[in-house]
Amino acid sequence: MEDLLYKQKNLWDTMSDTEKQAVHAYCEGYKTFLDRGKTERTCIRYAIELAEAEGFQEYQPKMNIKSGDRIYVNNRNTALYLAIIGKEPLEKGLNIAAAHVDSPKLDLKPLPLYEDSEFAFLKTHYYGGLRKHQWVAIPLSLYGVVITRDGKTVEVAIGDNPEDPCFTITDLLPHLSKDQNKKALSESFAGEGLNVLIGSEPWTEDGEKDRVKLNILRLLNERYGITEEDFLSAELTFVPAIQARDVGLDRSLIGAYGQDDRACAYAALKALFDLDSPDKTAIVVLADKEETGSDGVSGMKSHAFERFVDDLCGAQNTKLTHSFANSFCLSMDVCNAYDPNYPEVSEKRNNAKLNYGVSVLKYTGARGKGGTSDASAETVGKLRQVFDKASITWQMAELGKVDQGGGGTVAKYMAERNIDTIDAGISLLSIHAPFEIAAKADCYMAYQAAMALFREMK
Ligand code: MN
Ligand code: MN
Repeated sequence: MEDLLYKQKNLWDTMSDTEKQAVHAYCEGYKTFLDRGKTERTCIRYAIELAEAEGFQEYQPKMNIKSGDRIYVNNRNTALYLAIIGKEPLEKGLNIAAAHVDSPKLDLKPLPLYEDSEFAFLKTHYYGGLRKHQWVAIPLSLYGVVITRDGKTVEVAIGDNPEDPCFTITDLLPHLSKDQNKKALSESFAGEGLNVLIGSEPWTEDGEKDRVKLNILRLLNERYGITEEDFLSAELTFVPAIQARDVGLDRSLIGAYGQDDRACAYAALKALFDLDSPDKTAIVVLADKEETGSDGVSGMKSHAFERFVDDLCGAQNTKLTHSFANSFCLSMDVCNAYDPNYPEVSEKRNNAKLNYGVSVLKYTGARGKGGTSDASAETVGKLRQVFDKASITWQMAELGKVDQGGGGTVAKYMAERNIDTIDAGISLLSIHAPFEIAAKADCYMAYQAAMALFREMK
């Protein structure tokens, strides 16, 4: 009779002390990954640094490629494709783990700097789906690049070193928020109101107008050699100046910015690094622009991915389309964990739970499964066998109760390439907040799941 019932397990009940130690050790590396990669650019750079230390080399077209080779392609410093060439020909297909490394943030507008009431501010245009009220009255750091008139690249990173200053968006005091309190939350905080405070001291030397702004320009020029016009060709962004921390007296959780989706990006990377010589070619995609729909040259829709795989196929006289048709993709992304503070948004039976392992989503989407790749029973069945063989603890999940909202991932763009694809990843609390929560055990299990994909998927 016992066997008739489907039972789920809390990971901490299933792990030995040695396994628990492995979980914590894995998460130390993961926290460093989060802190070193607060933006897609810094994340990709750190991923390349790690990959090169693991024997990966940059792929060059026409390079002689053989089984066991570890290669990567850097797509414009914001996306990365890595591969270990398998023993089997590419015609037999690839095992792909695709995650994204962009997270919601506050991008600077092209002409951002202004002065008002003797404060200097930078105007922003938010990126991705963020709840605006969460981004005020917290410390922010500034990252990015500026391309100067003569084509020089200047890198900016201020706010995460303890000796750095940080930045912030002011919030209303409760004493005077009577009118704001009456508004709907979606209207209380305007996108145009997300102006970041960056200074208040007037320049002593120049005329009378905008002396605080001038002083900021003077400081920027001293530190970076840039002028106001250089903002026109810049990609600068504010992210929370918050470091990854253990959460809970038991240290079972991690709190950090950007865990969507760097939790899965790290799991996929680490699995690839620890893979010896796979039968099928193993590929990790770290995509950009997922939070805005995967568009653009560095997003998952970009043909930069095809170009890389097509090159590899060309070297084996195989058609790309034939290789894709035999491939399997784990679209590794986060989903919401059941939150007992907000039970009303979930249908508890089908919602992911923290500490219950990898969350597999047959579909995401919204309004009757709109905008999703709904994985077939056969695809789920295939993954189930692989996970069972590798003793992966996993759970089925969905993105909130029916008609509550929804979301998407890169899955459908992989499926459109005629690749069997399914979403699987890590469930989080407070997704898209400046401080997202993951369970350490789930993060480790996602790493094991990616490893199972590379080793066991036939
Ligand atoms: Mn995501
Ligand atoms: Mn997201």
